[in-house]
Amino acid sequence: MYCPACSSKEIKTFPNNKKVADFYCPECSEQFQLKCQSKSLGGRITDGAYDSLITAMNLKELPNFFFLHYAPTSYSVQNLTLVPSFFFSDSIIEKRKPLSENARRRGWVGCNILYKNIADDGKIKIIENGKIVKPEKVRESWKKTSFLKNVQVESRGWLNDVMNCVNEIGKKDFELEEVYTFKEYLSELHPQNKNVKAKIRQQLQILRDNNFLKFIDNKGKYHVG
Ligand SMILES: [Zn+2]
Repeated sequence: MYCPACSSKEIKTFPNNKKVADFYCPECSEQFQLKCQSKSLGGRITDGAYDSLITAMNLKELPNFFFLHYAPTSYSVQNLTLVPSFFFSDSIIEKRKPLSENARRRGWVGCNILYKNIADDGKIKIIENGKIVKPEKVRESWKKTSFLKNVQVESRGWLNDVMNCVNEIGKKDFELEEVYTFKEYLSELHPQNKNVKAKIRQQLQILRDNNFLKFIDNKGKYHVG
C-alpha cells in the first residue's frame, strides 16, 4: 500500500512490540489502523475503549483508519476506505453501554464508530467494489480536506455535519436556503446550540476559506466541486 497522505510508495508495518497503530509512513509519519470485516461498510463499526479513543482524539493523536470489507468466501478485498484521523469528532463516536456485572471486564465501556455519520469527503475510497481507485485521486481527496488537521476537534464535528448536508443536497451549485433545510437534523446532532443558522453560515465560511467550496455571490449562492 502506498501512502495516501504523501508521495511515498509504501507504508510500513509497526513492529509488534510497540504497537500504537498497524502501519506508518516512513516519509510523512502518518499512522494507520486497519479494521476488517466481512459485512459491507455502513452503519456502525465496533471499536475499542471509549475513553482512550476520546483522549487520543482530543490530543490529536488518533491514527487514520483503513476500513476493509472482504468477501468471506474468496477472501478478496471488496472495499477499502480511508477515514483520516482529522474527520474524527463527537459526531461520529458513540459510547456503548458498560459491560454487565457478569462480564469478565464488568463496567468496561467500548465505543462504536458511526460510519454513516462521516461525510463522504471523509470516506476516501481506495478500492471500490473490487476496483482500485487511482492513487492520484486518493491523494487529491486527502489534500482537499486536510485543512481539518488544523481545526480544533470541537469544530470538526460541525464541519463534518455541514459537509454531509452539502453532499446530501447533491448539486454542484446550491443555495443557503437549501442548507437551512437541514436545520432540524443539525439541531438534533447539536442540541446545545441555539443558533443553528448562524452556525451553518460560519461553517460555510470556513469551508470557503479552505477552498472546499466557493461563494458565487453574497446572496447565498455556493459552488462545490
Ligand atoms: Zn506519507
